[in-house]
Amino acid sequence: MRTRLAILGSTGSIGRQTLDVVAAHPERFDVVALAAGSNIRVLQEQIDQFRPRLISVARPEDRPHVRAPSVLVGLEGLLAVATVPEVDIVVIATAGHSAIQPTLAAITAGKTIALANKEAIVCAGEIIVAEAQRRGVQIRPIDSEHSALWQCLSVPHRREEIERVVLTASGGPFREASLEQLRSVTAAEALAHPVWKMGSKITVDSATLMNKGLELIEAHWLFGLTLDQIDVVIHPQCVVHALVSFCDGSTVAQLASPDMRLPIQYALSYPERLHARVPRLDLAKLGELEFRPPDLERFPALQLAREAGQAGGTYPTVLSSADEVAVQAFLHGDIGFLDIPIVVRDVLERHQAPRGPLTLEQVFEADAWARAEARRRIASARVQR
Ligand code: NDP
Ligand code: MG
Repeated sequence: MRTRLAILGSTGSIGRQTLDVVAAHPERFDVVALAAGSNIRVLQEQIDQFRPRLISVARPEDRPHVRAPSVLVGLEGLLAVATVPEVDIVVIATAGHSAIQPTLAAITAGKTIALANKEAIVCAGEIIVAEAQRRGVQIRPIDSEHSALWQCLSVPHRREEIERVVLTASGGPFREASLEQLRSVTAAEALAHPVWKMGSKITVDSATLMNKGLELIEAHWLFGLTLDQIDVVIHPQCVVHALVSFCDGSTVAQLASPDMRLPIQYALSYPERLHARVPRLDLAKLGELEFRPPDLERFPALQLAREAGQAGGTYPTVLSSADEVAVQAFLHGDIGFLDIPIVVRDVLERHQAPRGPLTLEQVFEADAWARAEARRRIASARVQR
């Protein structure tokens, strides 16, 4: 029996690589439903190749241009794709906060989740993880560091035996840049990631280390770790993806060539491992693996994320929403690279989180508030210039 998939964000970097995995194993996987944004050309190629029965697009005006049995639009479409009755695994690979509701809907419908999107778990981890536990639904990480942690933790263990975990970071394109140089780096330079080819938002987040900050919060929710248990090290070769240290002083690491098709495939085929045409590691050829602590002065976003994660409630939403606005402003040339964490910090400092257990309404309210606040902050900075 083939595993039946629904893919949200099929036209993006993760979505396209998910379909590469499917194409490499047609005997194992069936594509039942796809949701895309507005890249109709790529979507149509995918429809013609994989023949899904349900499609969703972001904008009503694109609907007439899609040739497929059934085409829905917007949030209604995303929710329908996330809950198709015959689907086994829902791949969540849209960018940004639009993943929150579909992820929850898929969990409520009892689907196994293959989770690439990190914003949903950062903003609503408390709600998503509780719902998954309540429904007995497995959330399988696609993010490479979290897939690595998941693989390291596949050895039998008790939660108390985990002492620390380490997430590695490439350090991005500006790993060696001085603070002075960071002042004038351009969007084009930030988008030229040395290792990974990804969507523009996550690529800029990798350059500021906000991506690693979001991943700290993601690891906290996915593996039930405290933020103090999670370290980050800069590892330019991107071969070791994460490490787990146990209470006996032993450390288990996961190593692989940096290729997202591997964690994607593992999330789809678990507990089995399928053949993958990713380059094999040649340690002798690699020669050296470097590790060093992150520089929080040049990359303050990492610390902001840690603090927002520790504060909990709506603070991680505010962090993520303000960052999204600031990254867009940077990409449009409205603010400088070093302004991104400044905007995020200012918005976080103004936020007053509601008390009590987190609700979805609070997440959406905090999201709207943080976006408006970030835009206001950016506009006033432009006036001052
Ligand atoms: P991309 O920007 O490449 O792709 C985003 C996808 O989401 C596209 O298919 C886009 O559609 C779709 N999309 C965006 N907004 C909407 C919406 N409102 N409704 C429907 N579809 C929408 O991003 P990535 O693939 O790089 O990243 C996706 C997620 O995975 C992010 O959360 C990222 O942090 C995470 N991730 C990515 C990694 C990577 O290597 N790329 C690694 C680890 C995590 P369209 O293009 O058609 O408009
Ligand atoms: Mg990652």
